[in-house]
Amino acid sequence: MAFRSKLPQVGTTIFSVMSRRAAELGAVNLGQGFPDYDIDPRLGELVHQAMREGYNQYAPMPGLPQLREAIAAKLARSYPAQVDPELEITITLGATEAIFSAVQALVAAGDEVVVFDPAYDSYDPAVRLAGGACIHVPLQPPAFRYDWDRVASVLSARTRLLIINSPHNPSCTCLTAQDLAALAQLLRGREIYLVADEVYEHVLYDGRAHHGVLSVPELRERSVAVFSFGKTLQATGLRVGYAVAPAPLSAELRKVHQFNTFTIPTAPQLAIARYLGERPDCGEHLGAFFTAKRDRLIAALAGSGLTLPPAQGSFFQLIDYAAVSPRPDTEFAEELLLRARVASIPLSVFYQHPPPMTLLRLCVAKRDATLDEGAARLREFARTRRDAATARSSA
Ligand code: GLN
Repeated sequence: MAFRSKLPQVGTTIFSVMSRRAAELGAVNLGQGFPDYDIDPRLGELVHQAMREGYNQYAPMPGLPQLREAIAAKLARSYPAQVDPELEITITLGATEAIFSAVQALVAAGDEVVVFDPAYDSYDPAVRLAGGACIHVPLQPPAFRYDWDRVASVLSARTRLLIINSPHNPSCTCLTAQDLAALAQLLRGREIYLVADEVYEHVLYDGRAHHGVLSVPELRERSVAVFSFGKTLQATGLRVGYAVAPAPLSAELRKVHQFNTFTIPTAPQLAIARYLGERPDCGEHLGAFFTAKRDRLIAALAGSGLTLPPAQGSFFQLIDYAAVSPRPDTEFAEELLLRARVASIPLSVFYQHPPPMTLLRLCVAKRDATLDEGAARLREFARTRRDAATARSSA
């Protein structure tokens, strides 16, 4: 029987493919965004403790009340907004579920959703499964800035939702307060919602401050803001994310969540609630921690011929290999994986219509030894590519 795919263009995500191949090849994995170091042992203990205490049955559908209360307290440290833990916070299976459930709740057949390329890979399929269509607006190179006039030109009566992301994966740029003001002005008087993917809210480089939708009342009232303990506690395998939205929006999101995942495991929720009680400032050191990681990579690649565009936040740093190879990024990433045994993520895969580009995304959420080894292999590979190009041009 011929099988009808609802997502014919979608394969296995580049992140999973790269991690699998890196493992098969014994490569240094700077591709998929996850830490290769341990979580805080205290968090692990608290998960064990919760299980031993018997927290092994369903949590309430919107999430464990203790965790929602701890999140409200955490949000109050970062944002001026008062968030009601009962009605406005929903615990989800990672940020991916929050985004998916929000999109299913808000988007109907025929609706249009604006996304910004290079766009995180889960947005477009989530919109398609809801029966909507994405309008892909590229961020402006080389600094990947938003062009709000261009956004204005694609809005119509069909536009239902914008999905924004800051700090931005994969471009490593951040929204400014001016961007948020421009966005608020653009949406004023229109029935358009926002999904704000802010999972890297604490991972800002160089002491930069995060500008999120919860800081702008006019945006907050139309937004589902999405956060992730996978990122903040550097524990991606716990799969604990959450969505913050005004009560009517949260109610719609929960209608989907309850038939999607229903609830997420109880013990990690209780463990994180207790952890937040012990470490209310958790997350606040991440800017300095990741800036040091990124700087280590920058220093290790200095003079290699690879250039590193300025990065403002996220778990990542881009590299531009234009000076060492003319090949398209997917081919260069493949060559890098097979020859140098370094896994990376080519940027063109995040575009509907990729412009010619020579950028790869590297994950810096790695042990120093992993970063050093990856950088040493990249340096050596860049040197051989440059030598080959010189030999070709003088032959
Ligand atoms: N967010 C991770 C990244 O950007 C990937 C998560 C996943 O593999 N789905 O690398």
